[in-house]
Amino acid sequence: MNKKTLKDIDVKNKKVLVRCDFNVPLDKEGNITDDNRITSSLPTINYLLQQGASLILMSHLGRPDGEVNKKYSLLPVANRLSELLNKEVYFADCDTVYDEKVKESASKLQAGEVMVLQNTRFRKEETKNGDDLSRELSSLADIYVNDAFGTAHRAHSSNAGVCKYLPSAVGFLIEKELEIMGSALQNPKRPFTAILGGAKVSDKIAVIENLLNIADNIIIGGGMAYTFLKAKGYNVGTSLLEEEKIELAKELIEKAKHKNINLYLPIDTVVAKEFKNETEFFTVDSDKIPEGYMGLDIGEKTIEKFENIIKESKTIIWNGPLGVFEMDNFANGTNTIAKCIAKNKDAVSIIGGGDSAAAVEKIGLADQITHISTGGGASLEFLEGKVLPGIDAVDNK
Ligand code: AMP
Repeated sequence: MNKKTLKDIDVKNKKVLVRCDFNVPLDKEGNITDDNRITSSLPTINYLLQQGASLILMSHLGRPDGEVNKKYSLLPVANRLSELLNKEVYFADCDTVYDEKVKESASKLQAGEVMVLQNTRFRKEETKNGDDLSRELSSLADIYVNDAFGTAHRAHSSNAGVCKYLPSAVGFLIEKELEIMGSALQNPKRPFTAILGGAKVSDKIAVIENLLNIADNIIIGGGMAYTFLKAKGYNVGTSLLEEEKIELAKELIEKAKHKNINLYLPIDTVVAKEFKNETEFFTVDSDKIPEGYMGLDIGEKTIEKFENIIKESKTIIWNGPLGVFEMDNFANGTNTIAKCIAKNKDAVSIIGGGDSAAAVEKIGLADQITHISTGGGASLEFLEGKVLPGIDAVDNK
């Protein structure tokens, strides 16, 4: 890790501006329905407090699109954080996130005190990495810590921008993401199996391209598998298909062959006439999808084949459901593969956030996975081998 971490900075009696990921789900009344993201930030927050810092915490919440929208206020987050820390947390209720009053309150913070700023996306400049906002935010503190992996693939004022004006380091959450995912990609224990699912091939092309240089096995399921099956010349009925990506799928299949990498596609598939749970469904071999039917999950033979590969693997990275897991009748593939990954205790298992993380959480296996990334989009870009601007901007050691 070449980026400065919390252990590399001295924060005693310093004001530390921390970019957290407090983008929590809220119900209609504005109550937090899952505070996982807040509790995940506690190791960094507690460590900085123990070291004698005062903290100014900031985050976005939802998509207010640069407008003030109290539905997305960070007040509930500040209140929940106060309960979790068992101490007062001051909420700077300022529609423009920063003003002279906020500045004055920040300047009065004593060691051990915590303040939460209003939603950074109430300001239009935030997602454009506007310099004014970066300068205002950084004027509140002496040091900056980025602990929001979920937005690290974007250059925004509150992550990349502030690094121009303050000495910086990454927090424990980002450090863990970089260490586990970084070593899996740079120096994986083998065999290394990547499992890719989800709706679209187009979202995963860059990941497949990059993994073709690293992985031993690439397993493809979900809606994106049908474009590959079509590329093999199979009829896919009314399954999800990206016509304009068929040629590319052919090329990827060829590339895998050329590089001696096993690219596995579903050998059987659960089909139905309609895209809904309450409908007749049955399993057919992947080259026998009847006209008028769509593939909605991987079949039993495929599950068995994929399970055997996963059992033998020492590094497993999974991104994207293998079927329409939101519908119970088509969740079997995703759930069984999740259980199989969790069962393999010899492997480093990594789940790239989003739907696959939701799937393991739903079946109660999250604690049996080595690492569940806190950022779906960010982890995908990391797997693509891209530099994440929110991390790149942080000071090197
Ligand atoms: P993504 O956001 O690309 O990871 O895609 C996730 C979505 O893919 C989920 O909502 C799944 O329901 C959907 N999905 C997975 N398999 C299929 C399939 N065979 N047909 C249609 N949608 C699918």
